[in-house]
Amino acid sequence: MCKSDFSFTNRRSFLKQASAAAIASSLPIHSGLAFAGAASDSAQAVVVNRPPLAPNAFYLLPLGSIRPIGWLRNQLEIQANGLGGHLDETWADVGPNSGWLGGTGESWERGPYFVDGLVPLAYQLDDARLKAKAQKFMDWTLENQSSNGMIGPRSNDDWWPRMVMLKALAQYQEATGDPRVIPVLSRYFAYQLTALPGRPLRDWGKFRWQDNALIAIWLYNRTGDPKLIELVRLLHSQGHDWQAQYANFKFTELVTPESIKLNDGGGLLDPALSTHGVNNGQALKAAPVWSLVTNNDSDRRGLGQMLAALDKYHGLPNGMFSCDEHFAGRNPSQGSELCTVVEMMFSLEQSLAILGDAALSDRLERLAFNALPGTFTDDMWAHQYNQEPNQVEVSLHRKPWTTDGPESNLFGLEPNFGCCTANFHQGWPKFAASLWMASADNGLVAAAYAPCEVRTRVQDTVVQLKEETDYPFRDAVRVTVNPSSTMEFPLRLRIPGWGEGATISVNGQAEASPVAGTFVKIDRKWKPGDVVELKLPMRPRVSRGFNDSVSIDRGPLVFSLPIGEDWVKLRDRGMTADWQVFPSSQWNYAVAVNEQAIGEAIVKEAALGKAPFALKNSPVTMEIEARKLPSWRAVDGVADPVPQSPVSSGEPKERITLVPYAAAKLRITSFPELKATV
Ligand SMILES: [Zn+2]
Repeated sequence: MCKSDFSFTNRRSFLKQASAAAIASSLPIHSGLAFAGAASDSAQAVVVNRPPLAPNAFYLLPLGSIRPIGWLRNQLEIQANGLGGHLDETWADVGPNSGWLGGTGESWERGPYFVDGLVPLAYQLDDARLKAKAQKFMDWTLENQSSNGMIGPRSNDDWWPRMVMLKALAQYQEATGDPRVIPVLSRYFAYQLTALPGRPLRDWGKFRWQDNALIAIWLYNRTGDPKLIELVRLLHSQGHDWQAQYANFKFTELVTPESIKLNDGGGLLDPALSTHGVNNGQALKAAPVWSLVTNNDSDRRGLGQMLAALDKYHGLPNGMFSCDEHFAGRNPSQGSELCTVVEMMFSLEQSLAILGDAALSDRLERLAFNALPGTFTDDMWAHQYNQEPNQVEVSLHRKPWTTDGPESNLFGLEPNFGCCTANFHQGWPKFAASLWMASADNGLVAAAYAPCEVRTRVQDTVVQLKEETDYPFRDAVRVTVNPSSTMEFPLRLRIPGWGEGATISVNGQAEASPVAGTFVKIDRKWKPGDVVELKLPMRPRVSRGFNDSVSIDRGPLVFSLPIGEDWVKLRDRGMTADWQVFPSSQWNYAVAVNEQAIGEAIVKEAALGKAPFALKNSPVTMEIEARKLPSWRAVDGVADPVPQSPVSSGEPKERITLVPYAAAKLRITSFPELKATV
């Protein structure tokens, strides 16, 4: 950069800062957050929906307000010390030649995907090394906006990858208050509004319009520019009509390549994009986001309708729907793509804030504590593209995938396709950022449980919270409330749908019995050092799946039979490697468990280690009775569909030990039930 450019940049920065300050002064501030280390007050304010948008039930706290502690901090550090904090050093697609750093390399979705997770990881860990990595991408995008307002590499004009970068920029602005962000986003959206009529949304962008709309709304709440609402309406009108798809849901079976015209040429057609797992995971937020514009109850109900259909026709016991990589029915030997896991989590986090529905928290935890860690190696240096609830072998095989390749369930750098390699980063950090939210009535909400500290401002008073817990492995949650001075505000605690018999006490005094599946409101004068204790009874319970199969849960954890694992390295991949895993023990059991007999399961707890989801020293295990079922076999590395329950077996009775789903990289999660008389 020459000297004159430098001074021009400085002048431009100054002008941008001045305009950002003007915007900040007009913010509709819910509670002006002032977290230590924040670059400016405006960056830390909880911003509420500006009329005419409908209000949210809850509002996410700005990135940086929540810091993980305990096992969650360990988990985020595992990610930072694994591929999450080193991907750019070993994978050229997000390396120094990325198009999103001004290079000639990958210029589509991978750079934005990477930073969409790297930014929240870096700021929640307050990690200078990671912040510096993210900063390069932020700076390049912010300093290289075209004169017409377009952002990103000049080599393509696809709306889709920019939608991802918008999410990263919004988080970065919240964490840092960088005054360049809001003006850049304002110019980009102004450009998009004029350009979309002539260059409308297509393929991925058409099916993912709601992610673009989400950030246009984020900006509207900060600037009040009515053109942004016009843009959201235009995106909705050009985007796929997800609510119509689910009002008359036709995709009730496993999708075949022929049924979605996969090989008809010319890229993916609408039937393929409508049934694509990642698109559907992202689309879970479409109706809630749109409901902010319409303030319409039928739009608010859209997510429930969508989840009900996905569960009925494609639901799996790990909380996912099958998508390998299109809908694949309820057979637990089918898989789900990692991108869909993290996108579904993000959709649930955003939708939970909009709707305030406790069932969405339950679902979010089911994904975060099972499907997410279950598809990584313990050190997070390798991941799968597709994971299966009944996963008896991880190897190069054609089955059971209908549209994906033979590498789909390998653990590695980029098995099958590299999207998940770039996109997985958002899973844990955004979950951590969603644990506590602000409520519309100026209080705080425990939206999901995991150990963390919160520093925020409620009604102009600084409030700190410390949540100490080994949940989901234990049933106790202890929250210390520390307002800087005594003050009254509502504090809401979620009682999960499975949490019947939960108890709450404040400073040792029992509160009224809370109702499962609700947010319980404790409205009182809080003084420094008040302690709220929550007990969530974690009795083992049964859920039913494909062919009336049995899956076993305890609290938010799903339990699986771990199969002996023989790890075989397929090849080195830079700083990591690709792995196959072959079974070294038998897995074909039917269980003597049903809704009544589950009470006989024996739960054992052990100390929580550094890697809470590792198989070794698992912090909780469960013993149940079972018999081998020799007729249930695997073909080409894939378990046959779990047989219709109940089944008979003449094999001897055995006690088998189950572990958390995520601990078992080879596993059975859906079991046939033994006939009670056998
Ligand atoms: Zn993917």
